[in-house]
Amino acid sequence: MTDFITTLIHHPYQPPAGFAAPQPGVFKASTVFFPSVAAMRQFDWKDKTAYTYGLHGTPTTYMLEERLCTLEGGAQCLLVSSGLAAIATVSLALLKSGDEVLLPDNAYGPSKSLVEGELKGWGISHQYFDPMNPADLAAKISPKTRLVWLEAAGSVTLEFPDLCEQVRICKSAKVICALDNTWGAGLAFKPFDLLPGHQPVLGVDISIHALTKYPSGGGDVLMGSVITVDERLHMLLKLCHMRLGLGIGANDAETVLRSLPSLPMRYRAHDEATRILAQWCTQRSEFAQVLHPALPNSPGHAHWQKLCQLDAGGAAGLLSVIFKPEYGQAQVDAFCNALKLFKIGYSWGGPISLVVPYELASMRQHWPAHLRQGILVRFSVGLESVLDLQADVAQALTSVRLS
Ligand SMILES: *Cc1c(COP(=O)(O)O)cnc(C)c1O
Repeated sequence: MTDFITTLIHHPYQPPAGFAAPQPGVFKASTVFFPSVAAMRQFDWKDKTAYTYGLHGTPTTYMLEERLCTLEGGAQCLLVSSGLAAIATVSLALLKSGDEVLLPDNAYGPSKSLVEGELKGWGISHQYFDPMNPADLAAKISPKTRLVWLEAAGSVTLEFPDLCEQVRICKSAKVICALDNTWGAGLAFKPFDLLPGHQPVLGVDISIHALTKYPSGGGDVLMGSVITVDERLHMLLKLCHMRLGLGIGANDAETVLRSLPSLPMRYRAHDEATRILAQWCTQRSEFAQVLHPALPNSPGHAHWQKLCQLDAGGAAGLLSVIFKPEYGQAQVDAFCNALKLFKIGYSWGGPISLVVPYELASMRQHWPAHLRQGILVRFSVGLESVLDLQADVAQALTSVRLS
């Protein structure tokens, strides 16, 4: 006779199999049961044909990994708690004391902070290269270089590099190149096959993606992925991932799985609205420069056109403007404060438009020659009507008009 208290926990009922619905089931676990001790000893946590422990994967996380591989054209995927954690995982897995890592000068800010802080403290040196001059990247690769980070378009300033040439340089120097593919999201171009039809295939070794942005799409989930096409490289990363105890929660995986089907449509909507707003901004006398890779005058436009126009094309939902030098910080801040639909806040990829003023001088080694002097404001265009967004920028500009 078993007490009902025990029965509540070890309940014999099994629901009928064959349940089918739009969303996959959500499996939550730290502990995973093994059918026997022998099975427990035999199961390898690295083998995705079985389960060993929640941190090493559940049906829910395996499913998300596979879909993300399809999105980016990769073969293996690791999930971590944020986009920055994805960047850190790659660097920690591949870099040892005495090694050097190269980053573009316009890399995502916290990525620079990682190399200047933790990595430097562990004896790993870094150099920044000019993202718009492949010769500078080639010149900075040395026997110490173990890893090169790439980003297209560049963070905040949205220059578009010659990504193909940068990858070729890394390949010929036999240095691993990792791309922060958050902007492209697997939609603007395919990171592991940059020139479809080209032989041999030209692609990066690793693509990291802040799923926090477009794949989440709601501004409510933090997650990152590390995608590869080479099994050995994946295993190196996976060992580090395991040793550091990285993983994600099932509820977050569920949210991203739910958002993924609408990702291509949302990305396209962000893209279309942003191009309209960018074009409109070029007509405004307040701005010295409008930065958006699809604008013919934007730095690296030709590289964007070559890489991102191959298929459906894509230019994401980010746009930056540089105010004319007569606009000081107080006026630019007042402009941001006067916006009603654009909220002041970091990140992007959600339905609500966002704005952030940046102090570019403190973010770059050198003020890039292709950028005008002035205070930079970055817009992340959400899913609102673009005419309403345009009207919002117009009304905020009138509030800072020079007297
Ligand atoms: C947001 C972002 C990240 C980091 O993502 P988090 O999930 O916020 O840590 C990394 N790279 C780029 C380009 C980003 O925009």
